[in-house]
Amino acid sequence: MKKIAVLTSGGDSPGMNAAVMEVSRFSALAGMPLVGIKRGFNGLIGKFSPKDSYTHMELDTLLDIADQPGTYLRTARCTEFYEPEYQEKAVAFLKSLDIAGVVVIGGDGSFHGAQAMCRLGMPCIGIPGTIDNDLEYSETSLGFDTAVNVCVDAVRSIRATSRSHDRPAVVEVMGRNCGDIAMATAMSTGSEIVVVPEVKNWDVMKVAKRLKELVERGNTRATVVVAEGAYKTMKPFDHNKFLAPYTKVYEGEPMNVRRLTHVLRYKTGTEARYNTIGYTQRGHEPTAHDSSFAFEAAYMAVELLKKGIGNEVIGVRNGRVFHMPIDKAMLIKPKFKRKIYELINSL
Ligand code: ATP
Repeated sequence: MKKIAVLTSGGDSPGMNAAVMEVSRFSALAGMPLVGIKRGFNGLIGKFSPKDSYTHMELDTLLDIADQPGTYLRTARCTEFYEPEYQEKAVAFLKSLDIAGVVVIGGDGSFHGAQAMCRLGMPCIGIPGTIDNDLEYSETSLGFDTAVNVCVDAVRSIRATSRSHDRPAVVEVMGRNCGDIAMATAMSTGSEIVVVPEVKNWDVMKVAKRLKELVERGNTRATVVVAEGAYKTMKPFDHNKFLAPYTKVYEGEPMNVRRLTHVLRYKTGTEARYNTIGYTQRGHEPTAHDSSFAFEAAYMAVELLKKGIGNEVIGVRNGRVFHMPIDKAMLIKPKFKRKIYELINSL
């Protein structure tokens, strides 16, 4: 009987538990015992006690966690895993447990870890689990749909209050390098301005000008959706110097949603307010879209490992779940949806 393993790595994302449960279900169906590796790649390198590193998976327990947010197996960054020495240690550990293949659920970084283990002879199948949606080979990843729905609910509520009080809103959503959550949220809520990290040298003064025009035209609840990583790509602007005549400034405070909102407030003469959606995007129950993707992806991952096929990643293309070689998938560079960005920021 072939034994396989599953782990979750990188940031947690809604749908990870559903995927782990489905891997457990399909491995049971295939007659392959399943080992759950805890805390991402940390569970493979002897960093913690065996109890905190891996567990034999019981389907009964897992059925209870399928629709829970977070990840039952825990997740953690593992800086050691960049080193070949630790990758070798991980593969040797898996072999010592008689494991014939691993399902790695995570984002781009986790897939690099999986790729390294594949090169060392341990077949791995990647399931994209990241709210960022920054894996270009796939149209979606576990958690993206849920994160967007959380943001959309929040922005709709914020816009209702913004309308009542004639106050523009600035809403920060997640996305360190990828503005997909911000753009999908803006599109789904009619938000008038979106700011994303893919646009280099975006100009805060232009954002202020556009916000002012919108308000003067009567749109007093105009909303700016900003991705958390966008501050690092903005055109240099000394916000502390600008804000000093208006409000208390803290030496060295970097640009952030609070400071951006203050700049917009004083530049537009409005009472713009800010909100940060934060962890609620990640810690929400998965939507049906994410849970059903978890089901199909898990089935495909287990089937591949059953046939002895590794070195593949699962994704969605043209609405269908598919798989492709991990090496090819990792070479596909993210393409920015500029047209959508321009459309949101027009009129
Ligand atoms: P998220 O999109 O939520 O950030 P991610 O999988 O991209 O998910 P990372 O923090 O980038 O998250 O990576 C998770 C882990 O994957 C790292 O802590 C490390 O253990 C492993 N990893 C990342 N990059 C590499 C690499 N180049 N080689 C080997 N392992 C890596």
